[in-house]
Amino acid sequence: MSSLESTGIVAGRPLCGARFNGPAAGVPSPEPLKGRLWQTNVLQDGSHETQRVFQVAASEGKEEVRRRHIRLHMEGALTARDKVGVQDFVLLDAHTSESAFLDNLRKRFRENLIYTYIGTLLVSVNPYQELGIYTLSQMELYQGVNFFELPPHVYAIADNAYRMMCSELTNHLILISGESGAGKTEASKKILQYFAMTCPMTDSLEIARDRLLLSNPVLEAFGNAKTLRNDNSSRFGKYMDIQFDFKGIPIGGHIIGYLIEKSRVVYQNHGERNFHIFYQLLEGGEEQLLAYLGLERDPQLYRYLAQAHGANESSMDDRNDWKTVSNAFAVIDFTEDDLENLFGIIASILHLGNVCFRENHQGCATIPVINEIKWIAKLLGVQPSALLEALTHRKIEAQTEEVICPLTLENSVYARDAMAKAVYGRTFTWLVNKINSSLVNKEFTKKTVIGLLDIYGFEVFDKNGFEQFCINYCNEKLQQLLIERTLKAEQAEYEMEGIEWEPIQYFNNKIICDLVEERHKGIISILDEECIRPGPASDLSFLEKLEEKVGKHAHFQTWDNLWRVWDSKGFSGQGSQSLLLMGENVTTICLESWGLKGQRLMVGTQFKTSLSSLLEILISKEPSYIRCIKPNERKEPSKFDDFLIRHQIKYLGLMEHLRVRRAGFAYRRKYEHFLQRYKSLCPDTWPHWRGPPAEGVERLIKYIGYKPEEYKLGRFIKGFIHRDKPLCPDNEEFV
Ligand code: ATP
Ligand code: MG
Repeated sequence: MSSLESTGIVAGRPLCGARFNGPAAGVPSPEPLKGRLWQTNVLQDGSHETQRVFQVAASEGKEEVRRRHIRLHMEGALTARDKVGVQDFVLLDAHTSESAFLDNLRKRFRENLIYTYIGTLLVSVNPYQELGIYTLSQMELYQGVNFFELPPHVYAIADNAYRMMCSELTNHLILISGESGAGKTEASKKILQYFAMTCPMTDSLEIARDRLLLSNPVLEAFGNAKTLRNDNSSRFGKYMDIQFDFKGIPIGGHIIGYLIEKSRVVYQNHGERNFHIFYQLLEGGEEQLLAYLGLERDPQLYRYLAQAHGANESSMDDRNDWKTVSNAFAVIDFTEDDLENLFGIIASILHLGNVCFRENHQGCATIPVINEIKWIAKLLGVQPSALLEALTHRKIEAQTEEVICPLTLENSVYARDAMAKAVYGRTFTWLVNKINSSLVNKEFTKKTVIGLLDIYGFEVFDKNGFEQFCINYCNEKLQQLLIERTLKAEQAEYEMEGIEWEPIQYFNNKIICDLVEERHKGIISILDEECIRPGPASDLSFLEKLEEKVGKHAHFQTWDNLWRVWDSKGFSGQGSQSLLLMGENVTTICLESWGLKGQRLMVGTQFKTSLSSLLEILISKEPSYIRCIKPNERKEPSKFDDFLIRHQIKYLGLMEHLRVRRAGFAYRRKYEHFLQRYKSLCPDTWPHWRGPPAEGVERLIKYIGYKPEEYKLGRFIKGFIHRDKPLCPDNEEFV
């Protein structure tokens, strides 16, 4: 006997809801949450089905429910429009202009309504203030509730992905994008917290949940820093899989880190800071620990921290954050030894920055004071003499033998900084691996995941290094992915399913991505060639090659198109400055001083490769999108800078997305899934439909009372429903 036959539709709470002072998991509640009724499926073995289900009340006929939904929607849409704009851009007038889009966003922002939908895509404007919208009761409100029934919220996106994952056993992805400071990391943290607080849980898996949550402060300490654009800017890309078992319990996770901005360890723009962890250690570290590491509290005593004068004006609470990070380490299972080694390395970097060189009579670098060398050698467990030599000499391979050559003063400074960067980069990789080993859960072979992508946002500074190039390239790729998966795929799907459709024009970002990554022709290939070429890699020759090979490319010459917000001086000017700062020759020196002679590290290609494997991960999952917007450059609350926001609307492609959404059918499902989900609404399809799924869907839809113009049945696998027509009372995508 099926579950529904045994219990009917009863008032109860899903297992997931039980964490909020509700009845025990799955036990029917005499007082349903917020007056809603829930279906609890009791399985044959007496256990409760964990899938959160739709909201058809036993006491309410489905027509009634449907009418109630429509009324709610109409009321909501009409009253909201007058007061605070519309909560879904699709509800704006048919030929929405960019100004109308902006007006709606502004209206809502002024009312502290930072979220607005474009269909199922969430647009979020950073409020730069606490709004009290991330409370437990808010989480409770959004739990298991139909997508469009409540005001837009990041919790609705999270909950929707979760419900789909549970009901369809599919893997999901929440892709968060936007420029630096737009609120991506905050959004991803809110989502993680939402899952941690609302998903069902068992005692034995609480530790997995806590580790998932606490991996954040640790990674932020080592991977985030104050920049001119964001006091807590992510300086690495982060993709995190949250793994769930078949009951929807979070059981573990996996993190992939992308290209940590190592150059920050040795150089920051004026007013910026190094990675948070350095300041946290100095500010919050216990006396005994600092003494062991040979460190003083004052950041100004360390070249790598003092150089940019950013430490004093930070809004970060380093002392408090140190406590959070220390506690997190304990939960994530770092041993005393691990921590001793880890902070030994962090301290050694600070000492390394203070190593000074002097030029001797032969024009070679020497190290007159070896106090720092002693500390570094102790903390890293190497011989002081080996360290001295690595910093002042390099090995050159001459035919059959190795020759040790002294370095000039300038090259020694490069070698020192390169070493600091390499050590930090490897430590960060180790840290991510270590966190992963504590998040891994081998017990469960059958699991589904929700992936969260939070990368460094698009950014342009006065000086833009190779890392900015990679960061922005990564953003261009994600934009391309979004285009492929929303605009292009949407249109392709209509075509494939034979649905009538008027194509929408959009800018295809592929041309930009090709310029950077195309084999043999793209900027990265040109950079590689320069690095492989015998003789020292020269930034100037690289720039000449660029000019020669891609100089005529439309998007190269008009650089503002390529990066969209770049100033129009042209790449050469910007590039030479940045590449001289970050040039590959630095990496080469670094490798030589580490004894890895002969190996050429082509960072651009490595990054390109890791990006394409990221894209493969992303493509394999059902996506939801959050597009974050930064309201002003001053990090101020309540300031809505029209110019800046209009610009983001443009380059995030939001208008194009809206046009596609408006023109199309908002709701679509594979026939099988659709039937499985809604078959109970029609006597012909309940409890079983034995014919072809498409016919069952047609029967069901007609029974509910849809007019032919309100839906379309695709040729092959899917049915489509107009967005302004509620599918049926329990439709998640229902307006
Ligand atoms: P980057 O690309 O530089 O990492 P980001 O998009 O991740 O930028 P966040 O670090 O998430 O940006 O946000 C920057 C700051 O804006 C936060 O530290 C916080 O002060 C504020 N902020 C962002 N989102 C919110 C929010 N939803 N509510 C309140 N404040 C927010
Ligand atoms: Mg961030």
